[in-house]
Amino acid sequence: MKTLKKYIMPITMLLIFEAVAITLWLTLGNIFYLFNFTYIGFSISLGIFLFIRNNRYARRVTQLLVGLYMLVYLGFICNENMQIEGFWYYLFTGVFEAATIHYAVAKIFGPLIFGRGWCGYACWTAMVLDFLPYRTPQKPRKKLGWIKYVTFAVSLIFVAALFLAKVGNIERIMFWAFIIGNILYYAVGIILAFAFKDNRAFCKYICPVTVFMKPMSYFSLFRVKCDKEKCISCGKCRKVCPMNVDMTDNSRRRENGTECIMCLECKKACPKKAL
Ligand code: SF4
Ligand code: SF4
Ligand code: SF4
Repeated sequence: MKTLKKYIMPITMLLIFEAVAITLWLTLGNIFYLFNFTYIGFSISLGIFLFIRNNRYARRVTQLLVGLYMLVYLGFICNENMQIEGFWYYLFTGVFEAATIHYAVAKIFGPLIFGRGWCGYACWTAMVLDFLPYRTPQKPRKKLGWIKYVTFAVSLIFVAALFLAKVGNIERIMFWAFIIGNILYYAVGIILAFAFKDNRAFCKYICPVTVFMKPMSYFSLFRVKCDKEKCISCGKCRKVCPMNVDMTDNSRRRENGTECIMCLECKKACPKKAL
């Protein structure tokens, strides 16, 4: 019973993803969804399981398992554009599959439950950025968050223009948009990481997806909370946070609260187990 309680979180995640997998498989009649969400659920649960067992590579394992699967298998091999342009594309064509399902589960409704867990455990852009040397920001946060609204608008206008201009073979254009978009994301992400001495600078200022995720994660069910009885205000948690969150404040309006990527570095750093 004690062991079951200890592993309740990975078991719950596995069950949630399995429920999504079976529901989509049966409602859309496509067995791919059973395989897809079972694999992702297993990868996430494995990461949480390893974290509970204090494995230092727990999060990286999940990041690589999910990130490489989505980038290489779904993106390059299956030609599915899972970036925001792909989401707009499927939305305009009225097809509820691929990128629309991915966005609904991981980036729009999922954050109501697990916040920005996607950003901490599954994103293929951050999978690479997290290998860079500035895991904790070396400089104060900049007031450049407005850029993400520009990139969000550009992605929408780009796809809308293709439809309005009735361009032929948009599917092929989407494939190349995926390749070029990823190259751009990696290049800008790496340059910014070194310029600002912050691996997650791209996530903070440029990524258009955060326009969906930030408001939804405000209401997240799972959040890092601080036990004020145990906390000695040593500040070690804030020092290691890659996203500059004030996790010692339990209010939903805490500083950078919607930036939390659930990496749990703060929890690991706390000497009093207050988080
Ligand atoms: S903010 Fe964007 S680039 Fe960063 S981890 Fe999240 S989805 Fe990926
Ligand atoms: S260190 Fe803590 S507060 Fe900061 S992003 Fe990770 S889980 Fe969230
Ligand atoms: S590391 Fe722990 S004890 Fe120190 S400020 Fe953070 S929550 Fe409090």
